[in-house]
Amino acid sequence: MPIAASARRPSAPPPPEGLTLRAFLGVFRYSRHAVELVWSTNWKLTSAFAALTLLAGVLPVSVTYAAGRVVDAVVAAIRARGSGVHAVLEWVILEGVLVAALAATQRGLALARSLLRVQLGQRVNEMILRKAVTLELRHFEDSEFYDKLTRARREASTRPVSLVTRTFGLAQNGISLISFAVMLAAFSPWAVLALLLAGLPAFIAEAKFSGDAFRLFRWRSPETRMQTYLETVLAREDYAKEVKLYGLGPRLLERYRDIYRRLYRADRALTLRRGVWGFLLGLVATVTLYAAYAWIALSAVRRVITLGHMTMYVSAFRQGQTDVSAMLSAVGGMYEDNLYLSTLYEYLDTYVPPPPGTVRAGPQPNDGIRFEDVSFVYPGTDTPALEHITLHLRPGSTLALVGENGSGKTTLIKLLTRLYAPSSGRILLDGADLADWDEQRLRERIGVIFQDFARYQMPVGHNIGAGDERAFDEEARWREAAVKARASEFIETLPAGYHTQLGKWFQDGRELSGGQWQKVALSRALMRTSADVLVLDEPTAAMDAQAEAEVFEHVRQLGRERMIILISHRFSTVRTAERIVVLERGRILEQGSHEELLRADGLYARLFDLQARGYR
Ligand code: ADP
Repeated sequence: MPIAASARRPSAPPPPEGLTLRAFLGVFRYSRHAVELVWSTNWKLTSAFAALTLLAGVLPVSVTYAAGRVVDAVVAAIRARGSGVHAVLEWVILEGVLVAALAATQRGLALARSLLRVQLGQRVNEMILRKAVTLELRHFEDSEFYDKLTRARREASTRPVSLVTRTFGLAQNGISLISFAVMLAAFSPWAVLALLLAGLPAFIAEAKFSGDAFRLFRWRSPETRMQTYLETVLAREDYAKEVKLYGLGPRLLERYRDIYRRLYRADRALTLRRGVWGFLLGLVATVTLYAAYAWIALSAVRRVITLGHMTMYVSAFRQGQTDVSAMLSAVGGMYEDNLYLSTLYEYLDTYVPPPPGTVRAGPQPNDGIRFEDVSFVYPGTDTPALEHITLHLRPGSTLALVGENGSGKTTLIKLLTRLYAPSSGRILLDGADLADWDEQRLRERIGVIFQDFARYQMPVGHNIGAGDERAFDEEARWREAAVKARASEFIETLPAGYHTQLGKWFQDGRELSGGQWQKVALSRALMRTSADVLVLDEPTAAMDAQAEAEVFEHVRQLGRERMIILISHRFSTVRTAERIVVLERGRILEQGSHEELLRADGLYARLFDLQARGYR
């Protein structure tokens, strides 16, 4: 896991942006994506959602209209001294029906929303995971990218649907607002203008503040990442041991608080500005409403309009304003959703080149592995981790890599397994460039166990079966591999044998010792019976010397036609390899057999002597 500790400390929050159209429209940036997403998730439900939204947009105006007609019908009936009661009742009933229809529409909307939420949550999670499967190792090792992935996953089941709800809500209020405006236009176009103009400043200000908040969120993402990381360290079992024994808790907690305080200051400033402006601009709307009220009332007094129309217009004005403020709060909420979707789409749009190669068999089948002047620089670093590596390994031979920590041993293996591509030079397998090999075929040929192998929280059997995906469930194959890796003895003493759950995350999980885990991981590598390249990166460091010797003897016997590449710090193991390559700072310092290297009296001889002395 990339460590977020490298998060840079931002100097000052980004200055608020001027009131530009771009800032304003930024809030809608991802609405189209969100609507597309729901549409492709379930177009029927989305259509129903859209139709109901439309209905919910036009029904309020018809209710208002009916209410106005009720008043007019009542006035007319009073004047006609009782006749016309029919008309009054008809309008009342119609209004009642319309209100019931509005209620039904809103229920329907809520229903569609909750169904969509579930489907969309699953869909987005699947999209995220499907993408994760195609990613390259370098992506996972890139802290910013990893952060994106984590954030995308965290809110996958709420954010997209929230943005959709708000987008549709905005449309609904927009339709409703337009229909009220059309109604008001019959009174006076100036009233319409007043309605819209009164809402506009608050609307624009809200959009602007949302934009600022959006930028604030992005700016502080490194800080937030550090906070999340501290949460992990403070609250997860694999850190608990050290945090407790070194007493790191209070210090880390203080750092956590410190970040909060910094973030809070910036937050508070924005919230205050937002609140004050929201209130002032809201006042403009209220004043306009009452001015319009007076105007409409006076028009009724002067008999320019009927009493019913007065009711209608005042209500239209008031509800129009309600729509405006509902739209305001929708826009206000959209920035966070946008932030989420921007992360999600940046993640989903990450370019991953398709696995290029198609070669299934090399032109020189028994040539083995060749490194030709290979150099490699990790992305984002300047110093090469490997430089000018040239070596050749024939089928049936064993190569041991020796060198200090950080000398490039693991990197060499990452290149060989094509987890990374060389920055320059080539690696050949059976005469064909590794890059040209068919992905599947290449994976079949290489069995590997890394120092930091995975400890799956699954049954032992599946931990082993994972080594050959096609035989994942085949118990006979697990057993065979476990015997080779000297793991079968301890597995059989476990309560449910090969079906014992490992790890502590799930019920009845058993934790293994480091050496036992290594045996399980080794079994996994040995599941690849078809693999003719076996890579063992310190696979036995946590095993006792006896077990290591046995395992290697066994692995070597497997290796008649196999190539074995081995990293170990135990010279008793290393010396048995036909060829030993000594790496120093990414370069090959010396290579040869154990005897040759001793004779050469270089670094290898010195290190060997050092270790041998320890045993004398
Ligand atoms: P070894 O296996 O010999 O201990 P590695 O191959 O792991 O050494 O590391 C070689 C060098 O590459 C080291 O200097 C290390 O800091 C650097 N390195 C290893 N992994 C990465 C990575 N993912 N990103 C950047 N640098 C790395």
